[in-house]
Amino acid sequence: MLASRLYSPTLRELPSDAVVMSHKYMLKAGMMRKIANGTYAYLPLAFRSIQKVEKIIREEINKTGAQEILMPIVQPAEIWQKTGRWAVYGEEMFKLKDRHGRDYCLAPTHEELVTTLISMDTTSYKQLPVSVYQIQNKYRDEKRPRFGLMRSREFIMKDGYTFDADQEGLDKQYKLMYDAYTRIFTRCGLNFRPVIADSGAIGGNASHEFEVLADSGEADIVYCKHCDFAANIEAVEPNTIPCGIKNDKEKEIVETPGQHTIEMVCNFLHAPIKQSVKAVVYKLDDKVVLAMVRGDHEVNEVRLQNIYGAINVGMASDEDLERVGLTAGYISPIGLKRTKDFDIICDATVMETQDACCGANEKDKHYIHVNPKRDFGDVRVDTIRQIDANDVCPECGGEIVLTKGIEVGQVFKLGTKYSEKLGATYLDSNGKSHPMVMGCYGIGVTRTVAASIEQNHDDDGIIWPVAIAPYEVVIVPANNKSEEVMGAAKKLYDEMEDKADEVVLDDRNERAGIKFKDADLIGYPVRVTIGKKWQQTGNVEIRLRRTGEVIEVPLEECHDKVMEILKDLHEKNL
Ligand code: ATP
Ligand code: MG
Repeated sequence: MLASRLYSPTLRELPSDAVVMSHKYMLKAGMMRKIANGTYAYLPLAFRSIQKVEKIIREEINKTGAQEILMPIVQPAEIWQKTGRWAVYGEEMFKLKDRHGRDYCLAPTHEELVTTLISMDTTSYKQLPVSVYQIQNKYRDEKRPRFGLMRSREFIMKDGYTFDADQEGLDKQYKLMYDAYTRIFTRCGLNFRPVIADSGAIGGNASHEFEVLADSGEADIVYCKHCDFAANIEAVEPNTIPCGIKNDKEKEIVETPGQHTIEMVCNFLHAPIKQSVKAVVYKLDDKVVLAMVRGDHEVNEVRLQNIYGAINVGMASDEDLERVGLTAGYISPIGLKRTKDFDIICDATVMETQDACCGANEKDKHYIHVNPKRDFGDVRVDTIRQIDANDVCPECGGEIVLTKGIEVGQVFKLGTKYSEKLGATYLDSNGKSHPMVMGCYGIGVTRTVAASIEQNHDDDGIIWPVAIAPYEVVIVPANNKSEEVMGAAKKLYDEMEDKADEVVLDDRNERAGIKFKDADLIGYPVRVTIGKKWQQTGNVEIRLRRTGEVIEVPLEECHDKVMEILKDLHEKNL
């Protein structure tokens, strides 16, 4: 490819919403263009990386025995209504009507359709297992589309689905996919971790997310320094912490004028924050739920949602509080009754705490000397707090690390949730009918490309792992005016025919400095410079983008040396 022909219109001025590096560099380097909020056109440089990720995915997923198909994006509402997800997806789903007024959606995922599809022609245990996948656009009207390709409204996903006769079959498929995902992200040159993910109402370790470790990630993950434990914190039930204090005093109301946050109250009462109880009031579907955690803890909202089997999770409004008799800023469960529309749930650690302070449900008043177990009355008790940096590993008690991750993939044991609702059944050898046991497996292809940039960049631009770099090599003639230099560069470019599709010749009529800057920004793993030095000594410079290492070789040896370097980078997944 000649750089003068490469369609990569560089941006001088970045939009203010470009805050993460992948978004910035992809726009700056002319890899993509924003079309509307959260939708992008992928230009050649981005699309080449995307296609390389897709190729790696196809190679590894095909090895599992899965077969590639392509399903419709425009899907009838009925199949989504059968599983209840027409309502569950709510505003996140792009919905449309056809000319007859019938409802359709743009698919955010394909469980409904693939289950319907496979059930049409699969009736006997002899046909199982079935394993299919596709790579295609998905549509989600995200509440906050942002970070460029990391969270967009139209994005490319690889989604795979397996259908087995029993749990044992599913377990096998799951392992195959888990291992394939590990190989895929390794080959993409990513530093990632599979972590236990929340699996909703299904429970158990039935799902893993593949998280690329990066500060810009939106997922909070925790792993143990001593054992294999690694999880999204949403999926963790931390240990219950004993209090270590015994309190015999009766609870007592004290004046706390204007002290309506937990920090204010603890300061005012000179109470340690660990001996305070924090109240957060949620609206879970139609139910108002008062959730109590220790003052220094946070509520795990995903866990709360699972406990109540809620579809919608939001904060309760002032009217909600009033209706159930709660005084904002001074909330207490003491003296309140659980009803059909109102529940009180306390974290297990709160119930262990003694001599605590908490609201008195009256303006400017708090209780002190509260022992929740003794004083709270009828409340639901469960582990609803998030694990935090002061905790230990819930598996082995070892030291934990909290960090940020970008979710690039997720594998999920679905069981019979979809096959039951959509009638995907098979007959066993005795002619008895059973629902198929399903798994689903997704990879965010475009997000993977962005995640790679989040993890591999410096102040000058992108540092691609060679496997997914748009091009592997750029040849820079550093002196355009010299026909001799241009001729030599062109000759080397022609010699690279075994990598013809991976080499760019920067033939633009630009200064060497600009070419170098662009080469660093686009992030070609290998740059070859032919300039004055070559004219003087016969040597050209080979520079590695990742390390900055420069190797000088005679022009005649350049081709072989570059091939050797590329081979090494590919072998090491660098
Ligand atoms: P998230 O929690 O980040 O919203 P998700 O768990 O809803 O993602 P899945 O339904 O598991 O996503 O989809 C499979 C994969 O698709 C994800 O692992 C992620 O890599 C990718 N993905 C999901 N939503 C988006 C998006 N809005 N933009 C880009 N990629 C996405
Ligand atoms: Mg997910």
